[in-house]
Amino acid sequence: MDYLFIAGFLVVLVLVIGYIFYVKPFFIKRRRLKIQAKPTPGHWEEILQQHFPQYKKIPVPLREELKNKIKVFLHEKRFHGTHDLEVTETMKVLIAAQACLLLLNRETNFFPKLVTVIIYPTAYVSKHSAGPIFGESWNSGELVLTWDSTLHGATNMFDGKNVVYHEFAHQLDQEDGVADGAPLLERRSAYASWAAVLSEEYETLISKKKRHRKTVIHKYGATNPAEFFAVASEAFFEKPRQLDKRHPELYRELKNYYKVDPLAWLDQRKT
Ligand SMILES: [Zn+2]
Repeated sequence: MDYLFIAGFLVVLVLVIGYIFYVKPFFIKRRRLKIQAKPTPGHWEEILQQHFPQYKKIPVPLREELKNKIKVFLHEKRFHGTHDLEVTETMKVLIAAQACLLLLNRETNFFPKLVTVIIYPTAYVSKHSAGPIFGESWNSGELVLTWDSTLHGATNMFDGKNVVYHEFAHQLDQEDGVADGAPLLERRSAYASWAAVLSEEYETLISKKKRHRKTVIHKYGATNPAEFFAVASEAFFEKPRQLDKRHPELYRELKNYYKVDPLAWLDQRKT
């Protein structure tokens, strides 16, 4: 009887593990491929061209990949406006475009913990924060953005500030369950170099902030390693030339992680 019970338990365990690690991912991947194969709505191009200058900088094949990833993002994530904010297609496309820019050129699980993007019209305060909040990323399935900051971030591609890149970098960091400035890297061997470079750059930023020195990376990054990764990601996409010049090792680590080279995009001819 005991043997039968144990054997039955093991069979169920194997089936559950097989479902979680093989069957479910297989069907998710198949569904995403089907979604990506659908035609791209014609007006998306106009939205991206008009409000997201970084889109015009990326190579054409990556633009196509970006639009395919936007389709999956919009299919899988919910949007919720607060304070009577009506969430429009333009808002959804622009948020998805900036979020998915962080996922180009690599296998991705599309921010698996994220369920809902909550949009506030403008910055807000909370009893937990010292100043106005422009965005927040939670482990519990929610990410908050303020629409005016989101639009400003999309339309200004060289100021090093982009709330969507920032909050979605937090999502990537939180994917392994810990917000510590170390997202899931492709290879185990990559962690040593990542930790060495990012911790040294983090300490440098703290030191420069104390001495009131000018920095390429926003000084908010000196708050903790998770914030450092988020603001370094903003600088990587929006100030690639300065970051590569002043912090070449950090630029290399981020380039290896994000699998794109925003510095090379600057030389793309306009189309
Ligand atoms: Zn942050």
